[in-house]
Amino acid sequence: MKRQLTELLSLTGVHVKSQKQVDDILILEVESNSKKAVCPRCHKISSRLHQNHYSLIKDIPWGEKEVFLRVNRRQFKCEKCSLPFSEELNFVRKRQKHTVRYAQHITEQVVNSDLKSVAERNNLTESEVETMIK
Ligand SMILES: [Zn+2]
Repeated sequence: MKRQLTELLSLTGVHVKSQKQVDDILILEVESNSKKAVCPRCHKISSRLHQNHYSLIKDIPWGEKEVFLRVNRRQFKCEKCSLPFSEELNFVRKRQKHTVRYAQHITEQVVNSDLKSVAERNNLTESEVETMIK
């Protein structure tokens, strides 16, 4: 089941650890396949896990279901410069609450419609839509 969900999700470099459904919302807990990350300061590869840091990230819907990813953006401690750093995830930018492909999904809708109706259809505010189409 988890392997199939990982395949369906089709996000490179992560796997689904668990899934939960609450009404029309599907929550998938995902984790990076890699046990290592690269320090952004000195570019040394580190495998010293410092902290787990979970957040809920909105992803594109599956049919009628809203999808949220429970993402563990792990903090590592660099073995060379000893400073903690957060791993890079290719599908969600830092400090954002939605995946890169969700922003693309919204942008495509705005191209064919307008801000107000896209916001309503996706249960977002107009300003949230604006930040995604930049
Ligand atoms: Zn470092």
